[in-house]
Order: sequence, then structure tokens, then C-alpha cells
Amino acid sequence: MSNAIPQSTENGNGLQSRGPLKVAIIGGGLVGSLAALSLARRGHEVHLYEYREDIRTAELVQGRSINLALSQRGRKALAEVGLEQEVLATAIPMRGRMLHDIKGNRTVVLYDPCTNQCLYSVGRKYLNEVLLNAGEKFPNIQRHFEHKLHYVNLTQGRMEFKRAPNKEIVEANADLVIGCDGAFSTMRQQMVKTPGVNYSQEYIEHGYLELCIPAKNGEFQMPENYLHIWPRDAFMMIALPNQDKSFTVTLSMPFKVFDTIRTTEELLNFFHKYYADAVPLIGEERLVKDFFKMPPQHLVSVKCHPYHYGAKALILGDAAHAMVPYYGQGLNAGMEDCTFLMSLFDQPNLTTAEILEQFTELRWRDAHAICDLAMYNYVEMRDLTKRISFRCRKWLDTQLFRWYPSVWVPLYNSVSFTSMPYSKCIANRKWQDKLLSNVFISATVALVAIGVSTYFGVFKISYF
Ligand SMILES: Cc1cc2nc3c(=O)[nH]c(=O)nc-3n(C[C@H](O)[C@H](O)[C@H](O)COP(=O)(O)OP(=O)(O)OC[C@H]3O[C@@H](n4cnc5c(N)ncnc54)[C@H](O)[C@@H]3O)c2cc1C
Repeated sequence: MSNAIPQSTENGNGLQSRGPLKVAIIGGGLVGSLAALSLARRGHEVHLYEYREDIRTAELVQGRSINLALSQRGRKALAEVGLEQEVLATAIPMRGRMLHDIKGNRTVVLYDPCTNQCLYSVGRKYLNEVLLNAGEKFPNIQRHFEHKLHYVNLTQGRMEFKRAPNKEIVEANADLVIGCDGAFSTMRQQMVKTPGVNYSQEYIEHGYLELCIPAKNGEFQMPENYLHIWPRDAFMMIALPNQDKSFTVTLSMPFKVFDTIRTTEELLNFFHKYYADAVPLIGEERLVKDFFKMPPQHLVSVKCHPYHYGAKALILGDAAHAMVPYYGQGLNAGMEDCTFLMSLFDQPNLTTAEILEQFTELRWRDAHAICDLAMYNYVEMRDLTKRISFRCRKWLDTQLFRWYPSVWVPLYNSVSFTSMPYSKCIANRKWQDKLLSNVFISATVALVAIGVSTYFGVFKISYF
């Protein structure tokens, strides 16, 4: 990708073929910093506005999930900006799920025994730093930390920020404003006030909080190349490995269960009952400290349509499609948004208006589909993984994938290890389910028929 800046032919309404745009990106998280980098590589003048201070110099970074599972879609987006290898160099491969039952027995279910694909556990802060550092090479990116968007005029591309520490108002304008400001996006809030923008959000009844299994004598306390899961029907715990040989543990439960745990004694009783094998790994003292440090966090799933407003505004990542985190796809889908958007920017004949319009049209079904899949996987992780039927289906899927890899791609593989559109992953699973149920029905009918004919055959023989 050349850094040469193309000549502008834009008329401000996005109605002519494009030259370099002045683009404001709201939110310097993972998707915003990737979008900034991708646009800067194409010669646009990028202004990245981030509410928080620069995480590269901040002493304490507060926020969600310390580590994340990176899969194919995120890797592809990182490869496109030349950062995949740098990120994978420090990531920890997770080859499958390690299930911990209530007695402490462990069972491994590999993600992909046929082609050995795996997820990668990456540090959120590290990934954000890599993306921000890569942006430093581009003089056409200007970073504005501690700028909180509080108003945007979607028709004119005019913005107002509150700048820390005094909350003084700073005004700015841009040809295009891209909201990458997360699940509670201010950009989206402004967009949904306009007619024609559909929006829905769903808080699930479960919250989450993060605990830690520290390293012991400089080593991991559990096998590191797995995503550990403690499925317990109505709730569950998962753990992902970190570079420093600790695990970040995420406990997900209905708020009403969290509410029953108010004292140290209640907490320890609860853990000894449901997660006994994890207690010595976390350590009782640390468990108590981390559990009561912060209240459990809410999880929200957001769908909206369209993702753009005219030729001036667009939302990406969680701002457009926040989802519950149980498919490990929120970030991957947000990064894939960038891949999609850039493929449209690379079509020279499209105007900005057309790019934004096509982005919505190409993306919304798949974004809605992954929000639905993420909800489904919550049930799968906490409940279905324990069931024999789940393991039988997993086994059957694996065999069929091994024999017919281009025809039978299991749902999890298609979501995590391919770039198949999410809606197609669902359609794929539907015909697989239908085929299997037809085969099952036919096999049952055949068995009954054989049984009946054998019975009457025997009867006939003995009669005659
Ligand atoms: C517990 C948990 C575990 C997860 N695990 C995974 C996983 O394993 N794999 C995966 O793919 N995804 C995972 N996700 C989802 C993933 O974290 C998100 O999808 C991803 O962070 C979205 O990136 P984003 O840049 O769109 O939003 P964010 O990461 O939320 O970044 C938004 C940025 O915008 C800034 N901002 C907000 N408001 C303003 C404003 N008004 N003005 C200026 N800046 C603003 C914020 O400070 C922030 O820096 C998980 C999520 C959670 C909660």
C-alpha cells in the first residue's frame, strides 16, 4: 500500500469520486485504531479522538476483559495492515476447550482436530498499543486523547468534544466521522435520533466479573494452550492464558446469583461448591479481594440498521453491533468491519456516499447474525458442552469435516476459522442439521422396517 496522497475531487457531499478525505475517528480502542491506520495507509487525513488518556503511557488502564480470543477474521484484518505476525508472536495459541466438571475432572475438546486451527489469546492493552504505535509512522494521523465526543452534527460533520481535565469544549469538523466508540456509542445515540434508523438493545440477565489465576513459581498453573471452561448450567467460568503465565478468569452468572454472595463466607462456600478445583489455583485471599473489588458488569447486545448517515457518518465495531462475548467474535467482527470498509474504499469509482451505503447493505445481515450466534454460544458454553449429545455432534461434525472438508464445515469452524459471512455460517448449519435429522429419521425408519420384517419373517417361518 502506497502512502502517496491521491488528488481530491470530493465536493463535501460525497457525491463525486473521492480524493483524500479528512476523517474523524471517534474512539481509539481496537477497532478505532485499526480503522485510523487503514485509512492513513490510503492517504486520508485522519484525526483519532479518544476519551481516555493514551493507554501507552497511562499508569492504570481500567476496562473490560484483559485478554481476548483472536481468530481468523481479526488475523486477516491485522495481516492487511502488516501487523498479524507481530501480534501472533506474543499471543498464546488455544487449541481447544478444556472442560472442568464439578468434581474437577478435565476433558479436552479440540476446536479443530482435522486441520489444527486454533484461537489466540492476546492482551487487549498490548494489541491496542501495537495498533497505536503502528499509526505513529503516519504523519497524516493526529491523535487527540482525553477528548470525549458529546455532540455531532451528522449532516455537516461538525463535532464537539469535552477535553479533560476541565471539560472545555473543543470543536472540530470532518468530511467523514466514523464512530468506533464502543457498545455505549455517543455517535450511535445521535444517529438513532434521526428517522429511519432502527435500533434494539438487549441486556442479558447475566453479568460478569474478572478474577485471576496467577503464575506459580513463574509457571502456568493449568495447561496454557486451552480455553478453560467450567460449565455449570445457569452460570459458568472461563479462563484465558496471559503472557505473564497467569490466566484471566471470567465468571458469568445471573445478577440474582451474584446478589446472593455478600460475604467472604458466602463466596468461599459458593466457590467450594461449584468451582472447587479453581479455589487453590486462584487462592482464597485473592479470590475474595478480586471478587469484591468491582460490581459485576452488564452485558449488552445491540443491533441497528443502517450503520451510516448520508455521506458523513458511519459506525463500526461495538458501536454498530455490540454482542455478548461468548463467541469471542466482538473484536473479530469489528476488525472485519475494517476489512470490508477498506475493500469499498479501494474501489475508485465509488463516492463516499456509495461506500457508506454499500457498507450497511453488505454488512448488516452478518452483524445481526453474529449477535444471534453469540447469544446461542452462551447456552452452548455453560450448558451444552456438558451434554453427551453435544459431544456426539462434535464428533460427527469432525468426522464429516475430515472426509468432506470443502462441503462440511462445522459451525464453530466456519465462524472462527474462516471468513465465511456470518449469515452463511448459520445457513450452513441449518442445512447440516436438516440433513442429519433426515438421515436420522431414515435410519430409524429403516431399522423399524428391518425389525418388523424380521419379526414377520420369523413368524412366517415358524408358522409355516
Ligand atoms: C468480557 C468480555 C470479553 C470479550 N472477549 C472477546 C474475545 O475473546 N474475542 C473477541 O473478538 N471479542 C471479545 N470481546 C468483545 C470486544 O471486547 C469488543 O468487541 C471490542 O473491544 C470492540 O472494540 P471497539 O473498538 O469497537 O470498542 P471498544 O473496545 O469499547 O473501544 C471504544 C473506545 O471508544 C472510546 N470512547 C467511548 N466513548 C467515547 C466518546 N464519547 N468519545 C471518544 N471516545 C470514546 C473508549 O474509551 C474506547 O477506547 C469481549 C468483550 C467482553 C466484555
